[in-house]
Amino acid sequence: AKSRGRGQVCYFNNAMRKKLKRRADIENDLQHGIRNSEFELFFQPIFSLNDPHVVSFEALVRWHHPKNGLVPPNDFIPIAEQTGQIIDLDLHLLRSAAQQLKLWRQAGYPMTRVTVNVSSRHFASLDFVTYMQQLYIDHQLPNGSLCLEITESGLIENLKLATQIITGLAPLGVKLYLDDFGTGYSALGYLHQLPIHVLKLDKSFVDQLTHKENPLIDAILSLARSLDLNVVAEGIENPKQWALLKRKGCQFGQGFMVSKPLPADEAMQFLLTHTEM
Ligand code: C2E
Ligand code: CA
Ligand code: CA
Ligand code: CA
Repeated sequence: AKSRGRGQVCYFNNAMRKKLKRRADIENDLQHGIRNSEFELFFQPIFSLNDPHVVSFEALVRWHHPKNGLVPPNDFIPIAEQTGQIIDLDLHLLRSAAQQLKLWRQAGYPMTRVTVNVSSRHFASLDFVTYMQQLYIDHQLPNGSLCLEITESGLIENLKLATQIITGLAPLGVKLYLDDFGTGYSALGYLHQLPIHVLKLDKSFVDQLTHKENPLIDAILSLARSLDLNVVAEGIENPKQWALLKRKGCQFGQGFMVSKPLPADEAMQFLLTHTEM
């Protein structure tokens, strides 16, 4: 029993060592990656459920890693959050999104909105407002064309400052989308105090709709209505989910049923060919 115990400790240490090594590698590679522009934004259409047409895109990052190929965000965003590199990465990606919007405008394409996922860490300093203002100026972005997706937890840690920042962004038309709504701990008591604009109903709720109805979905939609917030349902994969969400009064959606996240050119082609869906 004693030797088995030691064996387990040894195994555990190896696993730990591997994990730490992987983390250190990613930390290193992230730094290079930002400098070498190894990140590409893909764009997933967000559409109206009632009068089907594309209303905006969510920008989702992909990493073209020189050795490991295409790395999905779940493999490096959480690490970037831990190391703090998420700040640089987000700012870099916000700039990429602004550049893409400018390219589309210069090419004469219809103007659209892009929402970018950002860490709630940005909502701890008014510098973020300055950065966004400068992005809007540098790229001559129309009001409201670049918006933000953020999860709830970081906002409520410093409600007052977060509110100041969101208010500071308002003159640019920057709308705040509250991501993954309904997961983790939702501090419902604070929701009416935050100047947010849109709730994103987490995919886990949408998944369930294929089998049975979850009264929480109705509760969230009714909450959104009473707070005058729009709702985007994430991860719609089949017509049944679409129909149910629409019937329940959810206005917008996104998901593989309509389109995966696409490279910029394909996303614009999608928009042009799906003015009506
Ligand atoms: P998220 O913000 O909740 O993004 C939605 C995720 O669901 C995306 O995964 C998207 O590709 C996926 N998805 C959309 N529709 C469907 C569907 O119908 N079925 C299924 N199975 N999946 C669907 P992705 O691109 O792998 O991103 C994962 C997470 O990584 C995102 O979750 C977000 O939290 C984070 N992330 C992605 N890009 C960025 C970024 O540029 N900055 C930051 N800070 N985080 C990012
Ligand atoms: Ca998101
Ligand atoms: Ca989400
Ligand atoms: Ca998520």
